Amino acid sequence: MKSHSIKELLSSNLSLQEVTINGWVKTFRSNRFIALNDGSTINNIQCVVDFENFDEALLKKVSTGAAVKISGTLVESQGRGQSVEIQVKELVVLGVSDPDTYPIQPKKHSLEFLREKAHLRVRTNTFAAVMRVRSTLSFAVHRYFQNNGFYNVHTPIITGSDAEGAGEMFRVSTLDQKKPPLNDAGEIDFKQDFFGKETNLTVSGQLEAETYAMALGKVYTFGPTFRAENSNTSRHLAEFWMIEPEVAFNDLDANMDLAEDFIKDVINYILEHCAEDLKFLEQRLIDEEKSKPQAERSDMPLIEKLKFVAENNFKRVSYTEAIDILKSSTPNKKKKFKYIIEEWGADLQSEHERFLVEKHFKCPVILFDYPAKIKAFYMRLNDDGKTVRAMDILFPGIGEIVGGSQREERLDVLLEKIKELGIDEEELWWYLDLRKFGTAVHSGFGLGFERLVLFATGMGNIRDVIPFPRTPQNAEF
Ligand code: ATP
Ligand code: MG
Ligand code: MG
Ligand code: MG
Repeated sequence: MKSHSIKELLSSNLSLQEVTINGWVKTFRSNRFIALNDGSTINNIQCVVDFENFDEALLKKVSTGAAVKISGTLVESQGRGQSVEIQVKELVVLGVSDPDTYPIQPKKHSLEFLREKAHLRVRTNTFAAVMRVRSTLSFAVHRYFQNNGFYNVHTPIITGSDAEGAGEMFRVSTLDQKKPPLNDAGEIDFKQDFFGKETNLTVSGQLEAETYAMALGKVYTFGPTFRAENSNTSRHLAEFWMIEPEVAFNDLDANMDLAEDFIKDVINYILEHCAEDLKFLEQRLIDEEKSKPQAERSDMPLIEKLKFVAENNFKRVSYTEAIDILKSSTPNKKKKFKYIIEEWGADLQSEHERFLVEKHFKCPVILFDYPAKIKAFYMRLNDDGKTVRAMDILFPGIGEIVGGSQREERLDVLLEKIKELGIDEEELWWYLDLRKFGTAVHSGFGLGFERLVLFATGMGNIRDVIPFPRTPQNAEF
């Protein structure tokens, strides 16, 4: 017999039909009620066992975590809160789960504990909901770009370029560890890493995406990126997924419009398609907040917050205006910023970004026209000679979610910048070629997918929105 998904059954009018389902036992109460889940929905289906008709030894094997196959009649439920339940006729235990050693018990586990069980934590309601939202968001990303005339480019994972120039790269090496080649100075010659070329895992697909935008017009890349940052924050991973659109003939204003429209579209998509999971995650937050002091509680429930972002304009503020605001502000009556901004040109710290978003403007903020000195080499220099056409999008509770810019399209200006920063011109010959052959204004941005999932799910730590987080010392499986 064809098996059904629980999601299908709970939303169907199949009452009195014979059905078969497979899933994992959440709880088995009073030797009579199995709450079964198969991952298709946050809701369990109740399966009622008439225990006199079943072998005691078989029922003993039905414990939390066991995989079972159940056939029976779908009937209207007598219990509250659910439409249908199954009167079990046939019960097969496909895989037992030892109650003494199964780590995911029906009680509530801490997120820290579950991080140690990354292979099983998706059996919990919280992680299953987060991962379903993540999957739907991923689909929404492709859907948005494909519906808007963008082509998907698969930029390389192994590359010789360091897009950001931040030196946060994982080396990719084919060198013989025991007998590495040496250079004239007697040191390991990393220039021979990749069969004769120094290589690393990509930190961003931007430079390569730019080359494709300058032929296909509108492109995006959405893939894993790697940063060897030894940072233990709740916003950084060593391996994360980045969404990077790049558009020929778009200036910074068009780039900001694109980023805002894109974010609103994907948020709307999950509001529509992940309603049950978002409701569950919202309730989870409400329960969690009850134990916090009033001042630390969020003023908006999750779904309202998502709707707010989807429906309201982001505030666009220049770096210079932001500095003026920050210089004349204190986060609250008593406290000053830990890092006081003395003068124009300083990089903003996350306390400043969060102040602007959460206290001052109380909405997502797009900061633009940053000092050239604190931004990457490829950003378009403004006529003032000291700011670049860069933008960061800052989100409540998250901080930076997007970094983008209009790219420097003028060969002479770019060459000067490269020289100033001591970047090897030869290494970027292909990138410079784009400025020689049919150069034009173009722009794009990078959005960290996990930061978007953090915002969408209301989770507090980036380690909890990716299946197997890669952070320092965390790469066992
Ligand atoms: P941050 O200031 O948070 O370190 P960044 O300015 O170094 O970020 P960009 O180079 O601008 O990051 O990358 C574009 C986007 O990628 C960021 O806006 C952010 O959403 C995401 N991102 C960057 N680094 C990480 C990381 N280590 N883990 C997860 N997401 C990241
Ligand atoms: Mg960084
Ligand atoms: Mg940054
Ligand atoms: Mg950035």
